Amino acid sequence: MRVKIRKVFILLMIALMTTSGCGNGKSDLTKVSTAQMNKKVNIVTSFYPMYIFTKNITKDIPDVSVTNMTEPQTGCLHDYQLSPADIKILEKAQIFVVNGAGMESFMEKVTGRMSNLKILEASKGIEFIREEHEENKDEKKEGIEAGTTEEGINPHVWVGISGAIKEVMNIGEQLSKLDPEHAEEYKRNTDAYVKKLEAQKEKMHLALKDIKNKNIVTFHEAFPYFAKEFNLNIVDVVEREPGTEPSAGELSETIKKIKELNVKALFAEPQYPAKSADTIARETGAKVYTLDPVVTGPKEGDTEAYIKAMDQNLQTLIDALK
Ligand SMILES: [Zn+2]
Repeated sequence: MRVKIRKVFILLMIALMTTSGCGNGKSDLTKVSTAQMNKKVNIVTSFYPMYIFTKNITKDIPDVSVTNMTEPQTGCLHDYQLSPADIKILEKAQIFVVNGAGMESFMEKVTGRMSNLKILEASKGIEFIREEHEENKDEKKEGIEAGTTEEGINPHVWVGISGAIKEVMNIGEQLSKLDPEHAEEYKRNTDAYVKKLEAQKEKMHLALKDIKNKNIVTFHEAFPYFAKEFNLNIVDVVEREPGTEPSAGELSETIKKIKELNVKALFAEPQYPAKSADTIARETGAKVYTLDPVVTGPKEGDTEAYIKAMDQNLQTLIDALK
């Protein structure tokens, strides 16, 4: 396996040297990969939401293929380690679409060993929400060391529809630059998908505007962008990262807050069943609902998956808060 990689690498180097005459200018490298791209463009996405967005932007374009690197049930990539199979997939790609903002914790390995792979960061230029919870300082520090969050940035941009729209526009624009051959098609598809997302956003805002009690409690840190979008007030996040259970002290603090602020709804995620949710519900009378951050979905990658999940989320919010 390793020998094979080395062989490919050597062949690539020879190809580069012969076409660029050993020049060290970056433009030569770009020329080579653009020439390769004109034939067939292989785009790889890091995880489910990037896959769905990119599929919408590239659909019906001949010669452009999109592969999701991770299984559709993988979820967020906070502590994800690249497998040999992932590396194989990446080696066949010209463009790698990632969320960025620290979500893909393995990025240094990719950029370090695949200098010809163009990285497309969907969250580029977006204003991020930062962590503000004091009690989470230790965990946050660990997160930074593991490369999961840069300076406590919350990477779940796509969970808010406005963030999703910006990411889709970013992917569309950057794909057009990296693969100008198909720029027109990318733009046409991006515009059409953004239109659909805008309509969904408007529908949700309209349906939620009269809700008075907007205090909620969530599990895992995926929902700040969603909450900001719809003016929901997250009074507490119980499990900050999947798999970590709150201590008895944290649990009783959450219960106290829920009672004080008259919180009626707890929102868990389908991907991460929250053990503590039932305890809290029993103690407070608040109900547990499921909100979907769209990090998993059907294998085939239904292009409507994001909008369908948001529609379901809207119904959940109406049931929970009205
Ligand atoms: Zn996450």
